[in-house]
Amino acid sequence: MDFDCDLFIVGAGSGGVRAARVAAGYGAKVIVAEEFRIGGTCVIRGCVPKKLMVYASRFADEFAYAAGYGWSVGPTSFDWPTLRAAKEREISRLSDAYRTNVGKAGATLIETRAELVDANRVRLADGRIVSARHILVATGARPESPGAIAGLEHTISSNEIFDLPEFPRRLLVVGGGYIAVEFACLFARLGAEVTQVMRGDNILRGFDQDMRDGLRDELQRAGVRLRFGCLPTVFEKHGKALRATLSDDEAIEIDQALVATGRKPNTSGLGLAEIGVALDATGAVVVDAGSTTNIRSIHAIGDVTNRINLTPVAIREGHALADKLFGDGDGKVDHHDVASAVFATPEIGAIGLTEAEAFKRYEMVDVYMANFKPMKATVGGGSERAIMKLVVEAHTNRVVGVHILARDAAEMIQVAAIAIKMKATKADFDAAMAVHPTGAEELVTMRAPTRRLRR
Ligand code: NDP
Repeated sequence: MDFDCDLFIVGAGSGGVRAARVAAGYGAKVIVAEEFRIGGTCVIRGCVPKKLMVYASRFADEFAYAAGYGWSVGPTSFDWPTLRAAKEREISRLSDAYRTNVGKAGATLIETRAELVDANRVRLADGRIVSARHILVATGARPESPGAIAGLEHTISSNEIFDLPEFPRRLLVVGGGYIAVEFACLFARLGAEVTQVMRGDNILRGFDQDMRDGLRDELQRAGVRLRFGCLPTVFEKHGKALRATLSDDEAIEIDQALVATGRKPNTSGLGLAEIGVALDATGAVVVDAGSTTNIRSIHAIGDVTNRINLTPVAIREGHALADKLFGDGDGKVDHHDVASAVFATPEIGAIGLTEAEAFKRYEMVDVYMANFKPMKATVGGGSERAIMKLVVEAHTNRVVGVHILARDAAEMIQVAAIAIKMKATKADFDAAMAVHPTGAEELVTMRAPTRRLRR
């Protein structure tokens, strides 16, 4: 049977674009459709602009530390429109680069919405039908609403926060996950008065307890007012300001409320359920280990499959799928021991099992931990702490988890991830000579376990 193309990709985010480039490299005829801006959440309203804002947020500390190192810094001030415009220039540059790279690879990009009609056809927004040997759904995810709260329409999500016309001097952040923590931290450091509320009793459920406690303390030190077991019940507009009533009846005046209570796979309105593609209870596309759905010609990668919702994972999945469809490979991606980072200040970098998870799985676990004031803060006069933690399965001596709370934890965990993937033992860590003076040297110089957990 003849098709208009070999692969039709819905969504030009990181995963979709990688799949397009690799598939086109094999000589496949590829079409990619995108209804918003090229680059997806990561480039346009996620990782990249967020990291730029995190960089911006760290200058306040640098100015404060500078005096301890002999510098006199004149009056400083922060200008939100300047940062917003600089961010916009950079993401536009990246979006253009994505577009160019898709074209250079030989794939065709069409800027329109596309919906599935059947196992081999999609309909574009103008009604045109395109047939494809394979269809890839790479539509990502979108902010999930926390349910019925009166006045929720007055709040914003991470989609809007990057482009606020005015800097929110008083910000309420709802949620305790990655997005909530990162924005609470960066806006507090940019000078906003931040209140962060969450239903749980601590931030970042699922992370190692020492990291959660350590970062919670750092957020409070940065001025974030944390409220646990507390959620908004009503939002009311008062002129330009908002009034939020919290579940403990406190009412606060704010300029903006950022709701970051998770994300939901982008599957609605794509025609998937109608043509029989299996979706799970969260609306995610169900795929096998090779990213293929229950309909053999339809595949899905990235956040829309709700496996591990991180850009590099989507990119690997897209690459592996293109290899499977047009080259050599089974489409599988190793989803074990994936490192991740929370870009607060300090950062959390983590890979492998938390202490609690390791103790559930193994009979004897050794925990090595260092908790110290980073060298830069000594003369700088800061009160921040850094925590390094190795979780070791005691019988085999294998390091099964690394957790770091420190300024450059994301950079450090990337390198530690290589050791973990190679199944390094504590002895392997110890065999690496320290690089002195660094914070990371603690990872190879912790001699005696801080505690041994035994069943
Ligand atoms: P998370 O899943 O990380 O956190 C969601 C938060 O919202 C949790 O605190 C959760 O509470 C709370 N929550 C969920 N539902 C409700 C509800 N109905 N009412 C009140 N609170 C609720 O989601 P995010 O939105 O922060 O981020 C989405 C995903 O994006 C992340 O999981 C991650 O995969 C990715 N991401 C990664 C980043 C990185 O790598 N640095 C940065 C940003 C996003 P509880 O814990 O009690 O369930």
